[in-house]
Amino acid sequence: MNEAVKTWRIIDILKVSEKLLGEKGIDSPRLNAELLLCNTLNSERMKLYLDFEKPLTQSELDNYRIKIKRRLNREPLQYITGSAGFYGLSFEVNPSVLIPRPETELLVEKSLDFIKKRRLENPKLLEIGTGSGCISIAIASSITCEIDAVDISNDALMVAQINSETNNTTPKITFRNKDLFNDIQSLAGYDLIISNPPYIALDEIQGLQEEVKDFEPLGALTDNKDGLEFYRKIIELAKYSDGITNILLEVGDGKKEEVESLLHKNKITKYEFYKDLLKTDRVLHLEI
Ligand code: GLN
Repeated sequence: MNEAVKTWRIIDILKVSEKLLGEKGIDSPRLNAELLLCNTLNSERMKLYLDFEKPLTQSELDNYRIKIKRRLNREPLQYITGSAGFYGLSFEVNPSVLIPRPETELLVEKSLDFIKKRRLENPKLLEIGTGSGCISIAIASSITCEIDAVDISNDALMVAQINSETNNTTPKITFRNKDLFNDIQSLAGYDLIISNPPYIALDEIQGLQEEVKDFEPLGALTDNKDGLEFYRKIIELAKYSDGITNILLEVGDGKKEEVESLLHKNKITKYEFYKDLLKTDRVLHLEI
């Protein structure tokens, strides 16, 4: 006997996948289902609502099922769709780069504020650990500047280069493969140093969401020690670089005290923490 082939309309498939994702404990299951479907159909979210009754073709259905399976396996949505939004721009992402976080936008805002306040006309910036390039690209898309953006990972730099091209910032940013701990001897000559370093302590990795600990690049998350190694190295370099160095660094959740005691140990008195939208101390400005 021939079984009637079930037709799946947009409304049906969304309901079922929302339920499956919810049962797996995935946050915002409906939004995840909708965004994966938009990605499959290459359409806007609003269009889903207008086409609720529209049946999916077999190939759309197959394609969507693969994506939902990946998400049920806890792979981050952005790696499945291959893109992430940050500072109003779109960035390609894959597992060789950290997914840009909304709180990191504060680092971009504070960098732009600093440049504006000091009336720097064509500032020279160094970004340490550029990853997807999101921070440098967001800054370069807003102002005239020259940025050296470095990363230890060649795979990450390839993604960053593509992102710089799609966001039209290539003349302003030079990407280089460099290891902060071996290849950078001085911070002199830059108006501002910026970094969102791997600040998670090795022993905190196990407690992270599966999406993060099982899929994002470990080297972008942790220094394999206490989460402070990058701050130590940047402070040391600044101390031995000629002139005054201005540095803006992202700080991890609840890490203010630890970072502050590192500053006191180094007798650094010119510093300020800025809070993000969730009132967490998120960005640190240092003048060394
Ligand atoms: N600069 C990138 C970001 O903020 C990568 C940071 C990192 O890999 N630690 O997303």
